[in-house]
Amino acid sequence: MTGGRSPSRWAVVGGGMLGLTLALRLRQQGKEVTLYEAAPALGGLAGAWQLGDVVWDRHYHVTLLSDAALRRLLDELGLGAELEWTETRTGVFAQGRLHSVSNTLELLRFPVLRFGDVLRLGATIVGASRIRDWRRLEQVPVEDWLRRWSGARTFERFWLPLLRSKLGESHRRTSAAFIWATIQRLYAARRSGMKKEMFGTVAGGYARVLDRFAQRLAHDGVAVRLGCPVARVGRGEGGVVVAPRLGPAQAFDHVVVTTPSPAAARLCAGLGPAEAAALTDAEHLGIVCASALLRRPLDGFYVTNLLDDGFPFTGIIEMSAMARPQHFGGRGLVYLPRYAAPDDPVFELDDEALRARFLPALQRVYPQVGDADVLAFRVSRVRHVVPLPTIGYSQRLPPTDTSVPGLHIVNAAQIVNGTLNVNETVQLAERAAAAYAAL
Ligand SMILES: Cc1cc2nc3c(=O)[nH]c(=O)nc-3n(C[C@H](O)[C@H](O)[C@H](O)COP(=O)(O)OP(=O)(O)OC[C@H]3O[C@@H](n4cnc5c(N)ncnc54)[C@H](O)[C@@H]3O)c2cc1C
Repeated sequence: MTGGRSPSRWAVVGGGMLGLTLALRLRQQGKEVTLYEAAPALGGLAGAWQLGDVVWDRHYHVTLLSDAALRRLLDELGLGAELEWTETRTGVFAQGRLHSVSNTLELLRFPVLRFGDVLRLGATIVGASRIRDWRRLEQVPVEDWLRRWSGARTFERFWLPLLRSKLGESHRRTSAAFIWATIQRLYAARRSGMKKEMFGTVAGGYARVLDRFAQRLAHDGVAVRLGCPVARVGRGEGGVVVAPRLGPAQAFDHVVVTTPSPAAARLCAGLGPAEAAALTDAEHLGIVCASALLRRPLDGFYVTNLLDDGFPFTGIIEMSAMARPQHFGGRGLVYLPRYAAPDDPVFELDDEALRARFLPALQRVYPQVGDADVLAFRVSRVRHVVPLPTIGYSQRLPPTDTSVPGLHIVNAAQIVNGTLNVNETVQLAERAAAAYAAL
């Protein structure tokens, strides 16, 4: 806001962590801000839901010690002191058995890899953590790069199942920048001088973060419209007009759309063909993510990677091995994610059909889980989570500032040298807000 002029009017479409952070920062610059969210609650991918009598994130979320931007935001929301930190253990199910690979010694003893394989694996990880020029890696398929550095056996036995678990069959079209960014994130704490990496959650999970965020926005005077899907955004009388599916349209000086790109392309009217194509052409990855509330916790591995074939999900994440047990009444909270392309038939299966496939597979790894031990089972489906980091991705980025005056698009598609995580999302929002400070 500059002296004498009335504040500029802004709308933010999408109340995920990106839209929420952006709305807060724009408001702090003195702008008038209205936030539209389609769902009845805030949070998007980081949203919480009810599973039996537990309220927790609908997708598993952890914070890293090195997530500086997110931790600053949590401090600002008065939640920094509520972060609970844990050192986690990692399991691998391979050759029909569950192994702990939580430290170097365990990895050296891991029967699936020979001693020399483990050394090459370690050299690949340390080597990747030292690379600075990620643009070169973006030109190389991830499979070629990992085969070259780790060798064929380590690739087949270790990396390939992990790539499948994160990317489904889309790993074939992914660049080596993906694995580089993943390793960089996990090494960030060590690089910044902290001795080890730990995982954290706010007590109460994202439900607590989102509650506090909503209170803060209300206190600061951001107008939040929940359960208000936007049907169209485009130039009209009085500026850029936001037309919700139901209810009156409203004009703003600037509108920032933070939805995934395919939804942004549908919403935004007046984009040029090249801009629209940049939004619709990017190949996306989706997720089907089941949450199961179990009578008892499992064996204490936050992540269990699956190297054997035939699993209908791509990993087992036990939140109750990471967050304090009292948050779940001493029971187990397990996520069974399956990353898949948006047109994968798995998206058509209902919760019962997925339960019938997923539980026997969970029992293959953890036979102690009987059918009656599953107290609640619920599935989240999101067809467009994030664009796939394909070869040369950064040269095909959709624009932030569109050719429609006052219409901006900021979303995960603009993450070029990182992985999708809330810290990255908060930084995207803060960079965008800084760029708009004078508008
Ligand atoms: C399985 C999984 C695990 C993850 N684990 C972690 C983790 O451990 N740590 C971590 O830091 N991050 C993790 N993430 C990533 C994290 O969830 C994201 O970085 C972050 O939530 C993205 O926020 P966003 O606002 O960009 O997008 P979204 O959350 O997708 O927000 C977009 C919002 O737009 C709304 N919207 C869509 N269309 C419209 C419309 N027409 N009108 C109005 N509103 C609309 C949607 O309802 C949604 O709320 C994970 C993500 C997934 C899927």
